[in-house]
Amino acid sequence: MIDDVYEIYAVRYAHHDRQSPENFLGGDPHDILQPLAYFVWAIVGPHGHFVVDTGFDAAMAAKRGRTLLKPVDEGLKAIGLDAGAVEDVIVTHMHYDHTGNHDLFPRARYHVQDDEMAYATGRYLCHRHIRIPFEADDVVAMVRKVFADRVVFHDGTDQIAPGITVHRIGGHSKGLQCVRVNTRRGHVVLASDASHLYAHIDDGRVFPITFCVGDVLEGYTTIKKLADSPDHIVPGHDPQVVELYPAAAPGLEGWVVRLDVEPKTRRA
Ligand SMILES: [Zn+2]
Ligand SMILES: [Zn+2]
Repeated sequence: MIDDVYEIYAVRYAHHDRQSPENFLGGDPHDILQPLAYFVWAIVGPHGHFVVDTGFDAAMAAKRGRTLLKPVDEGLKAIGLDAGAVEDVIVTHMHYDHTGNHDLFPRARYHVQDDEMAYATGRYLCHRHIRIPFEADDVVAMVRKVFADRVVFHDGTDQIAPGITVHRIGGHSKGLQCVRVNTRRGHVVLASDASHLYAHIDDGRVFPITFCVGDVLEGYTTIKKLADSPDHIVPGHDPQVVELYPAAAPGLEGWVVRLDVEPKTRRA
């Protein structure tokens, strides 16, 4: 079945320096610099162009103290994708760094889990602690898209197109979904924040922003089943991704990389 094989691109759009204890529930004894990278992803193949997550813009970067490296639409343009023409956006979850840039994809349908929309608009958001990674404007923008017939809801596992499926993981955010894509090297899983760094899924550790620790840990098992090997799992915020995978084209090093080709061997 050649008509369900896709290319995948990771577009790094922002950066945040932080110390390792901030990345793990219970801290980290090493206390080393362990920055986060911010990505959106593009899936390109026989059934069209699919963008996974929408990132944040310069105003949100300033508000949240993150460094915007290149606007999301520039990264997509670098691989020939016109944001204005994209018809499908898969939203892994509704945290501010995955669901900003509300007007960048005017023609797109947004694919969201039932649980994530219910979570982002429901009783848990009465708690300030739960609201930390959410922005009211992002949630309102998604509700407006529901009224504009531009949201497609999914409940658990669902097919977006032949060779592309979403899978509810929960854990980090109640309705978080990962995306499994068939590529020429096998099934790759875009884990998004189901595993921020390789260290989370490799070592069974948990990022501090978490709705349910048990579901985070069970999610690691699910993701390992969905991916053809550990090298087919792509974490959501690990800066190593742009070092392990080759640039999508000369000049895009450290910015846009290809995930459907074998990565370099990871250091233990
Ligand atoms: Zn998140
Ligand atoms: Zn995130």
